[in-house]
Amino acid sequence: MTRLCVGCHLSTAQGYAAMGQQAVDLDATTFAFFTRNPRGGNARPLDPDDVRALGETLATHGFGTLVAHAPYTMNLCSAKEDTVAFARRTMASDLERLESLPGTYYNFHPGSHVGQGAETGIRLICEGLNEALVPGQSTTVLLETMAGKGSEVGRTFEELAAIIDGVQHDELLGVCLDTCHVWDGGYDVSGRLDEVLAEFDRVIGLGRLKALHLNDSMNPLGSHKDRHAQLGEGHIGLDAFAAIVRHPLLRTLPMVLETPGGLEGYRREIALLRGFAGEATAQDKEGGSQ
Ligand code: FE
Ligand code: FE
Ligand code: ZN
Repeated sequence: MTRLCVGCHLSTAQGYAAMGQQAVDLDATTFAFFTRNPRGGNARPLDPDDVRALGETLATHGFGTLVAHAPYTMNLCSAKEDTVAFARRTMASDLERLESLPGTYYNFHPGSHVGQGAETGIRLICEGLNEALVPGQSTTVLLETMAGKGSEVGRTFEELAAIIDGVQHDELLGVCLDTCHVWDGGYDVSGRLDEVLAEFDRVIGLGRLKALHLNDSMNPLGSHKDRHAQLGEGHIGLDAFAAIVRHPLLRTLPMVLETPGGLEGYRREIALLRGFAGEATAQDKEGGSQ
């Protein structure tokens, strides 16, 4: 059986090859990274040698699919025309750049409708996607499930389904389920995981579920807050994450941690999840028992 495809969010600051090495060092087999400065807009041109070196690392160490993350400033359903135009340009340019890492997922926050209403928000997001998606691209674009903080669109499975419904090339779309976000949105992935997955299947279809963000939540079910906690230190609890990595419908998906414990926190959580899945971890091997 192949190992869990698990990892964490990493910084591109030292380049792509260095990011891959860091992932190997953490015993990760996937990771997430921002396609550009998450708060600004500029993207450094990719160095082909750097990207090629990353590709070699990924192949050597049996990585699964990577999950790139769009910048937070990208709001396809802003009330400001120039913000919408920037978001569409950013997405198109990110998708073009990602062709140098073929098959990578591109995860984005659908957007905040800022008082225009969810219906208008959904229409604008569909228009943006219809403009940015290119038939034949190798990237699958993932809508992230949102906590419903402020005027975030994507707070229910129904809103995500409505977006997918309005996109012409919907074969290029999937969903990334963030455990903290759905919990804060009112879906009990801790006590009722199977019911939540059945509802996802009924409303969106489990075939769309392509990746997970594994985060505990600092707040109770349905709080619409979006504050991540380390696994076991929030209201979702460790048992839920053990059940998730063992779940037959989930255990083959890329799983990305976005928890607040820094690199050492990630190292610990990756080992913990591998332990839940019954795998030997890097730490076990270092211990050199057998
Ligand atoms: Fe996100
Ligand atoms: Fe997330
Ligand atoms: Zn979040």
